[in-house]
Amino acid sequence: LEPAYMFMIRVRMPGGVCSPQQWLQLDELGRKYANNSLRITTRQTFQFHGVIKRHLKSVIAGINHALLNTIAACGDVNRNVVCHNNPYLSPIHATVYEWSKRLSDHFLPRTQAYHEIWLDQKKVVGTEPENEEPLYGKTYLPRKFKIGIAIPPSNDIDVFSQDLGLIAIAQDNQLLGFNVCVGGGMGMTHSEPETYPRLGDVIGFCTPEQLLEVAENIVKIQRDFGNRVDRKQARLKYTIDSRSVDWFKAELNHRLGWSLAPEQPYLFENNNDHFGWIKDSQGHWHLSLSLLSGRIRDTPDQSLMTGLREIAKIHKGDFRLTTNQNLMIANISRTNKPKIAALVKKYCLPLPEQFSAIQRDALSCVAFPTCGLAMAESERTLPGFLTRLEIAMEKAGLDKDEQITVRVTGCPNGCARPYISEIALVGKSLGRYNLYLGADFAGQRLNKLYRESLTEDEIITELTPIFAHYARERQKGEHFGDFVIRSGYVEAVRHGSEFHKP
Ligand code: SF4
Repeated sequence: LEPAYMFMIRVRMPGGVCSPQQWLQLDELGRKYANNSLRITTRQTFQFHGVIKRHLKSVIAGINHALLNTIAACGDVNRNVVCHNNPYLSPIHATVYEWSKRLSDHFLPRTQAYHEIWLDQKKVVGTEPENEEPLYGKTYLPRKFKIGIAIPPSNDIDVFSQDLGLIAIAQDNQLLGFNVCVGGGMGMTHSEPETYPRLGDVIGFCTPEQLLEVAENIVKIQRDFGNRVDRKQARLKYTIDSRSVDWFKAELNHRLGWSLAPEQPYLFENNNDHFGWIKDSQGHWHLSLSLLSGRIRDTPDQSLMTGLREIAKIHKGDFRLTTNQNLMIANISRTNKPKIAALVKKYCLPLPEQFSAIQRDALSCVAFPTCGLAMAESERTLPGFLTRLEIAMEKAGLDKDEQITVRVTGCPNGCARPYISEIALVGKSLGRYNLYLGADFAGQRLNKLYRESLTEDEIITELTPIFAHYARERQKGEHFGDFVIRSGYVEAVRHGSEFHKP
């Protein structure tokens, strides 16, 4: 008798887009084979949790039946390409979304093994030369690789956390090209200071026509020079730090046979989502809903999964997942808007005004009970923790709608990008977290360890006087992350190598 193995399945969905028909099919799979829910990840896609082994094939076939797939959603390859999430806002947004799809397709493994194993397609002999991976070769990449595209002033995708981050540069609604940013990454291991989160370095600019060539050569440098001995040192950030950014630029320019242009100016204002109803220049509507931890399920208070299913049955636009685990019902026609608004009301869907700002912007990874690496709770503890945090903020004289980014993960792997959050809890052991403070509000500065191995009670006790200090002495418009640095609670961390410095 075999143990009841349980699996997580992740969909590949570049730019986080799915049609209403795809939504309905994924919803059905979630109810039939997973834990009666869907979950939006911080890489703008869905994860199914709790799929038992004998249902794996049915779920993967079902995802493919919906004209989606799970290829390269895990593994040592380029992962789901993320991008700013509303292509209808301007021509730039639409063009950038198309680039996210092109990048995703460009870096897909060419193997037919996936189809052979999961979709019962004809067996392919993998050793024949024509079946070799032209980019990944026989040994693929040393580790996973992440690509994301941001459109300033929004850094919603946290472009500096990507192995390859692209900052779209536009003028008069024309895409001029992309600033190229390399070497971002969140994961680290407790008590191993040679592992650290790192923000990417902007190394230059390329035009749209140059993008695939630039991206491919960056991936190839990591393929050829990445550490294949120690997986904890195998991400691009360590390849760059072990040799220097200048070496990386020189190697890239050498492989290209030409040099990247100097970076173009850009300005990021925040790394969160914008909620509620937005009307675009074509007169279509878009509704962004705030989903705590990206979890979509029915509860006694709220029929979220049912409500979204009913909306998918009548919606003619699409659904857009965000890297902040939220959901946009996009491209709603003027005539359909009242019907969708009525369904939102009927099923008590989470309109932004029902949440405080910290709830709307908070992220958490899944952790227990479905992540085998979890050291502490994350998704399950987030709602209660945020409520306590709000009470502490109010007591300290802060408005409940104060915007402070809060992220929680169950271990230091950093799936919810905790190290670029103004307040971060990173699981240390059951019920205990390291408390990090001091990232900025636009995802351009790392935070730093403030206190180690605290219980939630102790975290609230630590934060309450800092909130009071912030309420009394902050400067006009000063964000919490900037304040804790100016006031000396933690030092500013601009490079990963400073992250663990005492
Ligand atoms: Fe699991 Fe750690 Fe990622 Fe959370 S951060 S989902 S605990 S690996």
